[in-house]
Amino acid sequence: MSEKKKYVYFFSKELTDGSKDLKNLLGGKGANLAEMTSIGMRVPPGFTLTTEACNLYQKENCISDTVKKEVLENLNQLEKITGKKFGDSERPLLVSVRSGARVSMPGMMDTVLNLGLTETVTEGLANESGDERFSWDSYRRFIQMYADVVLGVNTSLLEIQLEDLKDDLGIKEDYEIPAKDLRGLCQSYKKTILEESGVVFPEDPFDQLWKAVEAVFSSWNNPRAIKYREINNISGEWGTAVNVQSMVFGNLGDDCATGVCFSRNPSTGEEGVFGEYLINAQGEDVVAGVRTPSPMNDFSVNDVNSGQRTLQAVMPKVYQELEEICEKLENHYGDMQDIEFTIEKDCLYLLQTRNAKRTARAALKIAMALLDSGVISREEAIFHVTPNQVEELLHPGLDPNYAKDEAAKGLPASPGAVSGVIALSADEAVRLKEKNINCILVRQETSPEDISGMVASAGILTARGGMTSHAAVVARGMGKTCVAGCSSLVILENEQSIVIGGKKISKDETITIEGTTGKVFVGEIPTIEADFDDDFIKFMEIADSYRKLKVRTNADTPKDLKNALKFGAEGIGLCRTEHMFFDSERIMTVREMIFASSTKERKESLSKILPFQKNDFYELFKSLEGRPCNIRLLDPPLHEFLPAEKEDQINLAKGMNLTPEELEERIKSLHEFNPMLGHRGCRLGISHPEIYEIQIRAIVEAAYECDQEGVDVNSEIMVPLISTISEFKLIKELALDLIKEYEEKFNKKLHFKVGTMIELPRAAIIADQVAEVADFFSFGTNDLTQTTFGLSRDDSGKFLPSYVEMGILEEDPFVSLDHDGVGFLVSHATKLGKKVNSSMHIGICGEHGGEPKSIDFCHQLGLDYVSCSPFRVPVARLAAAQSALKER
Ligand code: PEP
Ligand code: MG
Repeated sequence: MSEKKKYVYFFSKELTDGSKDLKNLLGGKGANLAEMTSIGMRVPPGFTLTTEACNLYQKENCISDTVKKEVLENLNQLEKITGKKFGDSERPLLVSVRSGARVSMPGMMDTVLNLGLTETVTEGLANESGDERFSWDSYRRFIQMYADVVLGVNTSLLEIQLEDLKDDLGIKEDYEIPAKDLRGLCQSYKKTILEESGVVFPEDPFDQLWKAVEAVFSSWNNPRAIKYREINNISGEWGTAVNVQSMVFGNLGDDCATGVCFSRNPSTGEEGVFGEYLINAQGEDVVAGVRTPSPMNDFSVNDVNSGQRTLQAVMPKVYQELEEICEKLENHYGDMQDIEFTIEKDCLYLLQTRNAKRTARAALKIAMALLDSGVISREEAIFHVTPNQVEELLHPGLDPNYAKDEAAKGLPASPGAVSGVIALSADEAVRLKEKNINCILVRQETSPEDISGMVASAGILTARGGMTSHAAVVARGMGKTCVAGCSSLVILENEQSIVIGGKKISKDETITIEGTTGKVFVGEIPTIEADFDDDFIKFMEIADSYRKLKVRTNADTPKDLKNALKFGAEGIGLCRTEHMFFDSERIMTVREMIFASSTKERKESLSKILPFQKNDFYELFKSLEGRPCNIRLLDPPLHEFLPAEKEDQINLAKGMNLTPEELEERIKSLHEFNPMLGHRGCRLGISHPEIYEIQIRAIVEAAYECDQEGVDVNSEIMVPLISTISEFKLIKELALDLIKEYEEKFNKKLHFKVGTMIELPRAAIIADQVAEVADFFSFGTNDLTQTTFGLSRDDSGKFLPSYVEMGILEEDPFVSLDHDGVGFLVSHATKLGKKVNSSMHIGICGEHGGEPKSIDFCHQLGLDYVSCSPFRVPVARLAAAQSALKER
């Protein structure tokens, strides 16, 4: 016979059913209340209705008799332990009813305090406590919260009455209202509630209890909880637990208080109890912001609360106890705690503890401090910082002391936070830079023509484009903050202004963008610098000791590479050679090459390119000192290189000795409807082998030059966008012939690998044939996602966010690798590749190579490396370590 399901768990110092390991069943709050009682902390006793009881409620649309029976048994037990009685006017038992999901959903669900009070019970409480004002104030609070949470009454009507009463009495603070007036206020509250909801305020405590429990269960499905779950990937099936806990009172006089504290500073991670409290108040007062809380101690003083007396000064003994408890809880949980407490008549009670939310800086500092003091192991420390927090650490962030609502939101394309005046063209950005004025380059979308402006600006904001758009990829490579695809942004070129969040911003006004979240703000917000301290270096070294995946970088210039090496890159996984020409001087030459009308003309422009390229490769090889260097042959989607602005077209025509009309003809003849699927990648190299020939010569010559100087070179030549085996073979043959030519010339063999990108579904499907001839694979998952989904990398930003919102897609597949479709192709190709050639090395160089979930996928597949933009290198190092440790 199966064991009877238990829906209610008791917690008290005498008897506790649950523990911290039952979070899924008891919710975070319930599990930790049970845990605290069992380690001897002073917690007001109570019981928890499980998440399964919530799911049963959702199914049956009422609290079942079985659950009710268990609740009543537990209530009875609570009465015995407390020596009080629910609904009794002699020794009344009052309870709080609070939601508590498996993961904390702050402010998303509901709480009712002081439940069990009726007119008669309130009279009794006044007698018992000897404090009439306290008991009517408690009743007033209860009516207000119950009206809000259970009856859905707009409580601003009640707030107005409270304010009016204080005005009439000529007082400022709630606690100054005399008992008789509070009593009158309770009456008028009830009258308003009846008028507003048509419900008579319940005078039966049991009726109150069932309705409150139902309300908390229902709050699991209120719109703000649903939205929060959507944003945070929380399943709707988990349900919430309900905690019914005997009340302790922080509002019984000046020897009472309530507060919230952290075992460390959650912004900086510095050691020491940090928090705030209110004398003679209930928990909701701290949260509601009615009164300004006072600092716990000197460590917690800030601009707003300075000058107020600290808890340490007012109640030194209780403070001392709290400090000891913070330490004990932190050691017990092995993590910084966020604690709610109430002090009733100088006696400290704990109402909640949980792992505290913290900034990235704090997370790192705390992880290393807990490791140093032996509270956690090296393996545990690795999970105290998330990979995304590592990225935050490398870029400046918004100063949390200057919170502000965003005016608009786009995609978090490249992290960091910057402020600057708006620049609506690249030239304007360059001009501002010359004057030492910080600016944000604001464009519909960017193209290579904007590069000089991107370099000159502090950050980039675009109205169109997704996470792999030109702006996003280039900005990430440069380590520049970027918000892309901000669809509500309107650019008014003629008026030299933009509109965000309904506000017009003109040329010399400042905005702030936060690339870590995609938020755009009007005005300037101060930022705080990233620090790259000893803790960080030590932490990353620990991570490296566990990971199996190698981490390379996508770097196109010696400058990007330098950054990436500093961040721990183990080689280059992708050098996009076309990006080496984004420079304003060089782009002309590339355009000349693209628009050449004969092989002869093309060879002429190519001969100008060779010295640049050779020198760049030489610099990369030298910096890499023998680490792998994967160089991809030219892959320019044409639209990224066509001159869009009239002025550039005129200049180019001049440079090529053409009339503007002739150039326009050539542009027209090259026009493609789908450039991403057009004459790019190896297709271009096959039509015009002289392009690849020049590039391969540049690679090989640079390698021999390094070799002669005694510098080790480990170079990989990569062919982009193949879909057939013949395409690859043709180019590999070209490469091998050229390499041979140099071997003979120098009478020395250097090793060059020749491999391919797998970025088209057909290439992935025939990967076994490809592996017969290719030395390596690198998954170009940007194009592979584009072509598997049939979604344009450039245009899908317009509707993909709504697909995610509607739940059609769980996530933007350009951000996080789609396991089932694109991932299937990656997995298929990897298996075939390794089967044919077990020593072939396989990596990924699409943007997914820097995204933690996709990295985990790569780890599980057994890829050799991931490659990502320089600032993501430490992210990938940590994500790879976490993947390896999760497997243990
Ligand atoms: C890719 O397609 O994933 C890739 C790395 O190449 P690119 O982004 O340059 O097309
Ligand atoms: Mg590609």
